[in-house]
Amino acid sequence: MKGSGESKASILFEFNPIGVVHSCFKEKFGIPRQPGLASEARATLELKTPFNRCEAVAGLEGFSHIWVIFVFHEAMREQWRPTVRPPRLGGNQRVGVFASRSPFRPNPVGLSVVKLEKIECDGGRCLLYLRGADLLDGTPVLDIKPYLPYADALPQADGGYAEDTPLQVMSVTFSELADAQCKECEQNGPPGLRQLIKQVLSQDPRPAYYVNKKYVNTKHANEERTEKQEFGMRLYDFDLRWKVEAGQVTVLELRPASEG
Ligand code: SAM
Repeated sequence: MKGSGESKASILFEFNPIGVVHSCFKEKFGIPRQPGLASEARATLELKTPFNRCEAVAGLEGFSHIWVIFVFHEAMREQWRPTVRPPRLGGNQRVGVFASRSPFRPNPVGLSVVKLEKIECDGGRCLLYLRGADLLDGTPVLDIKPYLPYADALPQADGGYAEDTPLQVMSVTFSELADAQCKECEQNGPPGLRQLIKQVLSQDPRPAYYVNKKYVNTKHANEERTEKQEFGMRLYDFDLRWKVEAGQVTVLELRPASEG
């Protein structure tokens, strides 16, 4: 006989995503590690049928920020691990998975507070325009909730090992080529592109083990210790390439992404 508490606790839940995120971030590498770190990081959240109804978002327009509860769809693993190495601790110190915001967790559910710029809802299309996102393109969304400053803002709270806002540590300059390419892209391309590039790269998206060069006890322990200096990521429909030298980022190139 199942005790009622036990049977309730062992129910497996199935959630139907209410929507999907269309984001400027087309790959995981380079995405800020939390929302709000790159204010120019734009995304739209498209509500899917049958959730794409104006009544379902009525009243939300009065809120400047929303919580997005989503699935880390590109971090799904068969096995979960009880500890992770947060980038905040240099990537070589472990904490419990539940003491982290790692995408790799028993239930790969994420939580981000983002700015809600506007809502467009008509003719069966319901789009929420977001800023400051840390979300990958294609992220399935389980729920949205208004951010309530009186309940959700806790300025006195302790931040454990992640007490301070991460610094924008690197200065970012553009090569002549990248500068010209960026100007061209800005004319008809996405707004705030140059600023987005600066915001993303100034936070040094390289893996923590790379930055700290403390390979001890990590799977990178036997890697060659020569520092790779050039990196690339896809932003919107562009391939961005940059190099890092002496704590300084130089944007090398920004060109239309190659297909496939
Ligand atoms: N703010 C959320 C949270 O605390 O749950 C996400 C924090 S997590 C540390 C942020 C990272 O998750 C990003 O830098 C990106 O690499 C990764 N990410 C974002 N969307 C993802 C997705 N749909 N699937 C897998 N990884 C994703």
